[in-house]
Amino acid sequence: MSQVEILLMKSNSILKVFYFITSIFLANIVRKPVILCLHRVKAPSKSLLDRRVGFTSPNNFKKVIRFMKIMGYEFVPLDELVNMIEIGKYKKVAVITFDDGFKDLYQNAYPILKEFNIPFTLFLITSLIDSKELLWLHKLYISLDKLHLKESESILKSYSDYASNIEDMSVFIGKVIHSKDKKNIIELMAAMSIAAKIDEGEEKRLARDLYLSSKEIEEMKSNGLTVETHGHEHWPLTNLNEEETEDEIVSSIRFIKEELGGLPKYFSLPYGTTNKYVIDIVKTSGLKGIATIKSQIITESSVDLYNLPRICVYDDIKEIYKIINKYYVKYIYEKLQQ
Ligand SMILES: [Zn+2]
Repeated sequence: MSQVEILLMKSNSILKVFYFITSIFLANIVRKPVILCLHRVKAPSKSLLDRRVGFTSPNNFKKVIRFMKIMGYEFVPLDELVNMIEIGKYKKVAVITFDDGFKDLYQNAYPILKEFNIPFTLFLITSLIDSKELLWLHKLYISLDKLHLKESESILKSYSDYASNIEDMSVFIGKVIHSKDKKNIIELMAAMSIAAKIDEGEEKRLARDLYLSSKEIEEMKSNGLTVETHGHEHWPLTNLNEEETEDEIVSSIRFIKEELGGLPKYFSLPYGTTNKYVIDIVKTSGLKGIATIKSQIITESSVDLYNLPRICVYDDIKEIYKIINKYYVKYIYEKLQQ
């Protein structure tokens, strides 16, 4: 390890301790709610799937829970926090939410949540449950993970404006999935999965190992889980027309009602993107709110139930200490200006 790397590591640790300690101090002054958003909880990996979806190691997940507890946060269900907001009561409470519906929620996060007796919310991509197929998006990432760069490049060139000097495949593929041509994305995904030799049997095995089953959901529901919706197939909503947007939201609500029991009350935005259609459809579907990935604490001036901020937790936990710290400082500064 070079001198520069050692210095960087040391300053990183010092900053982490600084943010940690100041947050504990400031939390007692600010006393505002926080909603956390996690995706996968699993051992770190460099796979495109994990880098694109986002992950936190079980150990770091525990550290974040302890951090919130040391700051004096009480963990409550999302609905309880929303009720508090509605009556204008802003307390030091935290809500833990997960997006998507990966099996590692059951395998790695759920035992920790049970140990600490913490209620939690899953914003579920409803087509994943008991599925024998991979979601289009995950199939694309997994195929890219299996293929050599040269093979991926030749396929990408046929379906996108790929140039060989691309710096980060993860960023590039992010742009591809946000392109407007849904048919082209599906064709690209199909070509990739054929090249990666993901046959029906392999896909079934992958889907079974990767996604939650209705049985696992049922068990978690009796131990603190509330299921909400994250859409049926996780398409970027702002690229869909009104009818497709409605279908994505309404079919996911129907799935939860018919297959898992109970009516969802909240929707979380795939990729965090939204527009007027989305808000209108969510409202007319009878849902009470929309969870975003707008990274903020919840204060009287920032809250709108159809634009609820959530702070995303990934594996670099210094970032979470830093974000919380930043919003505490911002809140105090704004109060002093009034
Ligand atoms: Zn998602």
